Parts: sequence; C-alpha cells; structure tokens
Amino acid sequence: MEAKLQELKQRLGEISDLNAAAAILQWDQSTYMPPGGARARGRQLALLGRLAHERATDPALGRLLDELRPYEESLPPDSDDASLIRVARRDFERDTRVPPEFIARIYTHMAEMYERWSAARPANDFASVRDGLERTVEYSRQLADFYPGYEHIADPLIDMADYGMNVSVIRPLFAGLRERLVPLVEAVTSRPPADDSCLHRGYPEAEQLAFGLEIAQRMGYDLQRGRQDKTLHPFATRFANGDVRITTRVREDDLSDAFFSTVHEAGHAMYEQGVADELDGTPLASGTSAGVHESQSRLWENLVARSRPFWEHFYPQLQARFPAQLGDVSLDTFYRAVNKVQRSLIRTDADELTYNLHVIIRFDLELELLEGRLAVKDLPEAWRERYRSDIGIAPPDDRDGVLQDVHWYAGLVGGAFQGYTLGNILSAQFFDAAVRAHPEIPQQIGKGEFATLHGWLRENIYRHGRKFTAAELTQRACGSQLSIEPYVAYLSAKYGELYGL
Ligand code: ZN
Repeated sequence: MEAKLQELKQRLGEISDLNAAAAILQWDQSTYMPPGGARARGRQLALLGRLAHERATDPALGRLLDELRPYEESLPPDSDDASLIRVARRDFERDTRVPPEFIARIYTHMAEMYERWSAARPANDFASVRDGLERTVEYSRQLADFYPGYEHIADPLIDMADYGMNVSVIRPLFAGLRERLVPLVEAVTSRPPADDSCLHRGYPEAEQLAFGLEIAQRMGYDLQRGRQDKTLHPFATRFANGDVRITTRVREDDLSDAFFSTVHEAGHAMYEQGVADELDGTPLASGTSAGVHESQSRLWENLVARSRPFWEHFYPQLQARFPAQLGDVSLDTFYRAVNKVQRSLIRTDADELTYNLHVIIRFDLELELLEGRLAVKDLPEAWRERYRSDIGIAPPDDRDGVLQDVHWYAGLVGGAFQGYTLGNILSAQFFDAAVRAHPEIPQQIGKGEFATLHGWLRENIYRHGRKFTAAELTQRACGSQLSIEPYVAYLSAKYGELYGL
C-alpha cells in the first residue's frame, strides 16, 4: 500500500506541476507579455492543458485509486492520506465522465462566443449573440446530463465550483437574503447619499500601490512567498505554497479601486499561502470551493478594511501619505465615502449592500434558463424586470444589462455566480466565529493588529485546503451550518448606524 500511495502522490504531483506551469504562463500573459506573444502562448497553454488532462484521466490512475480504497477506509476520514485519495477520486470521476470530444466542442464554442460578445457589448447588440447563447444553454444542459442522478439540472454545474452545494440549499438561502436586502436597500437609499468626492481627487499610482501592499503585508500576506504586479482585471494565483501572487489595477481618479481590490486579492492569497505544507503539490493544496475562497477575500476587504475601527487606526496614515487630497477630510466623511450605497446597474462596481442583489438576479435567471422556463429571447426583458423590482432601477440598454458580465459568454450558463454571494454570507459567519473565540479581535483591528484573526483563519480554514467541503468546514469552524443570519445582522447594524435608520 505504501508503494501505491507513493505512486499516487507522484502522479498527482506531476499533474499539479503541469497545472502550475500553465498558471505561470497565464499570469505572465495577464501582466508582462507583449501582445505579440498571444498566438504562441495560446498554443503553449493548450499543450500543457492537454498533458495535464491526459494524466488526470489516465485509466492507470483510476485503477490505482481503486486499489487504494481499502487503505483509505482503514484511515480516519479527516487524515491527510484518506482526504487525498477521496478528493483525487472525486476529481478523477468528474474529469472522466465527459467525453473529450464534447469538451473540445464546448471550448470551441466558448472561444467563438467570447469573440462575438467582445463586439456585441460595446455595440449594444444582444441579437448578435442570441443564437450562440441559446447553444450555450443547450451545452450546459447536456454537460449536466453527463452527471445523472441530480435533483436539479443546475446541480452538477454548481458542484464544479462549489462542491456539495445545490439548488435546494442555495435557492431558499438566496430568497431569504433577497427578502431582507430589498427593504434594507430601500431604506438606505431613501436617506441622503454619502459624499464620496474625496476618493476622486487624483492619487498618484506609486503611492497607492505602496499603501495597499503595506496593509496587505500587515494583515498577513507574506512577500517572501508572494508578490504584486499590475494587470487589467485583478486576480490572485498560486504556483506553490511558496509562491502565491496577487495582481492589481490602479485608477488615479479612484482611491478605493486599487486599495480594496489589493486587500481582496490578498485575502484570496493568504488562504492559499496558509494551506498546510504537507499538502503542497497535491490536489488538496488549494481553496476548497469558490464560495469559501470568496469568503476569505470578502472578510478582509469588507468586514475588516471597510470597518470603522480599521480606519480609526489607518486613516491618519493615509492622510499623511496624501495630505493635499485628504488633509481637510474628516474620518467620518472618509468612512462614509468608502461605504457609500447606491442603486446601480453594474455588478462589479456595486457596493457591499446591493452587490448580492445583482448576484441573486443572475443566479435566478440562470436557473430559469436551464429549467426551460425562460427563453433566451426573453432574457433582456426578464433582466430589466428583476432590476426594477429588486434594485429599483433598470438599464436603459443591454450593454449595461444582460451583456455586462463575461460569464455567460465565455463559459457555461450555471455554476458561476452563486460563489460570490455564498462567499459574502460565509465571510460574516467565519468572522463571527473568530470573534466568539477571540472577543479582542475588533479592538485589535482598531490598533492595526491582525495576528489573532489571521491565526484563527489559518487554524480553522486555510491549513485544511480541500480536505473538507464547504459545509464540513463551516460546521467545524463555526459549529453551525450555512446561515444568512450573521451576514444580515452585520449589514443591518453597519448600515443602520451609517444611515441613521
Ligand atoms: Zn474574489
């Protein structure tokens, strides 16, 4: 058994290295590669992807996993080895279920759709992508059918990003959240809006980058095992435990953009840096689901870095860095500015309070498309209808409506949006649990100290990697199942105070 386990680790390690090599090429493509490199880079990435897929679906790997089953069953389920075999088998079954020709057809379709969408969005031309989107819905349904036994057709698609979650859990959860958020947004937006003009006064790039990175390090992002570079669409990426990078983008006319996205990506990166070293180079060495990953970025971005105690400590330092821009701006004005709430059309620019309404609209529409209750031709109007009822404004055109997000035009319909809101819900649950264990955390944040919070997250979330599902991790860390109550309580208290409700 020992020899078989070694062989398994060897095989999985090579797959992990191929994937890491591809991630480095992708990182380079998004940061430093000159435009002339695009064609060769596409070819190189396709080769690495093919090699990794061949190894991941090798029948010999399947036989090895079968032979290791008795060994797995002899171990405690939460041991590293049992978890490795279990998760590797789950990945193997997922990867071998779908015929390669079908995957190739979907990829070709997605590449073509992305090109069409890139032209359709600026031209406000939904008609030009309509038939393609109809095909995407069909492909998404067909892909789900390779995983028979599901309760809802979206479940296999959700499983790919948020393993173990499904429509019967998420739909009532989101419906409950929507019910609480719509009146809260209504109440907040009926009050005078916050003045955020202080954020748009012209902030030199180098100073913005230095401040963001200083805070990220203070929170626990380790630059001996990470670095920051500039990009167009910020992301975090992992090559190994010892090399987890973040990227950011700076707008000189918007102080909050680079800062909060740096903290957000550092939250993702701290999760990856915190995976136990023993798991490095295995399929366990990564965040466990899209939702849990997003909970770690949102926790630092919103619950910590948009809180009053945080700015009580750091605002004087920010003012000292930008005396001409912020010298005459009070802490209270600044705190209100970074927490400004408004009814808006664009998800990626939305504030903390309205953000989830944007996500829930997309999630619900996806389900209706997959269920066949909504036709693609009726999607733009359904979109406008939901924006009117949930957010209180409707887009004047499809460019800022149904065409705004790349997800449905470069990927499947289903599985891509729920993680954002699951992450927000979980961020409050995890933060609550950390504060229950260490009631001094809020005061520490007010002193610019994050070691206790970071330590709790390492111990309860980060180090486990993919050993536990999102539900298991939540149960272990919080002693409860997924619940919207801590999140709703957090939002109600914060925005109630800010807007005098
Ligand atoms: Zn994120």
